[in-house]
Amino acid sequence: MSNKGELYLIAAPSGAGKTSLMKALLERCPNLALSVSDTTRPARAGEVDGEQYHFVDRDRFEAGIAAGEYLEYADVYGNYYGTRRDRVEALRASGKDVLLEIDVQGAAQVREAFAGLCSIFILPPSMQELARRLRNRGSDSPEVIGRRLSEARREIEACSAFRWMVVNDRFERALDELECIVTAWPLRRARQQARVEKLLEEAAESSTIQG
Ligand code: 5GP
Repeated sequence: MSNKGELYLIAAPSGAGKTSLMKALLERCPNLALSVSDTTRPARAGEVDGEQYHFVDRDRFEAGIAAGEYLEYADVYGNYYGTRRDRVEALRASGKDVLLEIDVQGAAQVREAFAGLCSIFILPPSMQELARRLRNRGSDSPEVIGRRLSEARREIEACSAFRWMVVNDRFERALDELECIVTAWPLRRARQQARVEKLLEEAAESSTIQG
């Protein structure tokens, strides 16, 4: 039976509330660890290297791509973002379940590589609400907001490749739903097959002993 941790992937259009939901989910699920990505985008105010991201330069990132060090990577808004294979594997080998917070391009690459991937897409309740949340952040210009909204449409179009959908209408309910998915996923039959086989072996042994 594999003791390796599960791999969860959460994607969402910008403004759907993914970051707050994931932070709360990580607090609720102590065995779940976030994989911290590499990025070439500059750190924003308050971001700490190694916490939100590992901030690396383009040369370093491109050398990593050439060496096959990334499980997936993508160019998002002109910057590279990627998940290092060794970080994910070290966490899984220690028995941790790993959570990836990545975009839909990266999600397609991970799906190819991992049959047992649990992919979750977070939807906003409506496009009007998404636009309202993006404006309320106050951090982006109208031009950037417009770009994020057209990007959101492209991402929502890709969501049919995801296994689970959670609508972030009410935060607490969306969080409960995410927790349900993370709790139920290890119980899938494919994951329990080794346990079933062990029980059947035990049953065969005991019937031999009993004659
Ligand atoms: P931000 O710059 O706002 O932190 O993130 C921009 C986008 O990059 C988000 O959609 C986020 O999910 C995505 N992203 C962050 N890390 C990764 C990663 O390692 N791989 C991929 N493919 N996308 C990422």
